[in-house]
Amino acid sequence: MAEDGYGFALEFNRRYSMAHRLNSGIAPNCQVPHGHDEVVTVELAEKSNAGLDPETNMLVEFSRIKGRWFQWIDKSVDHSFHLGHKDPLITYFKENEAHLIPKLLVTPGDPTTELRAACYAAKLAAFLAEENPNFFCSRLAIQETPTNAVLFRPSFATDVVAAGAEHWWNRPDLSINEFVGSEN
Ligand SMILES: [Zn+2]
Repeated sequence: MAEDGYGFALEFNRRYSMAHRLNSGIAPNCQVPHGHDEVVTVELAEKSNAGLDPETNMLVEFSRIKGRWFQWIDKSVDHSFHLGHKDPLITYFKENEAHLIPKLLVTPGDPTTELRAACYAAKLAAFLAEENPNFFCSRLAIQETPTNAVLFRPSFATDVVAAGAEHWWNRPDLSINEFVGSEN
């Protein structure tokens, strides 16, 4: 599928609040847990480039294609805490505040905006594969601050995150870590 070889695309934005910390040490300020209000923008295009439905003059009814994605952002990602899988805070939550485990978004290594963009794109691909297999995510952007954004083009970087349904980003459910079973 040619990345720019489509006539129409749909774009959806969603805002959410999140917190995170990064432990690699490359950005010392980011080792202190802190938060952002982010906006994730996705561009969806049709694999077949078939164009408009002659009955409706639409590509697809909007709520049908964005519903599951927005549900995941609103219920799981909004007010989540992003941690690398080796962060000792995970043990803290397990031992002291286990009820908050579902709100931990856990990534392999530091939850940088770049890595999360790849995880989000994989999650969206899982939703599309189940509900709207004729569409693909051609572009995903996370606006972390008013001046910083990460732009990800999934078809040019397919191996950023591991394949397999044992990883939350590949499952078409509401999960954001592996500690709780798939919730729908
Ligand atoms: Zn930050």
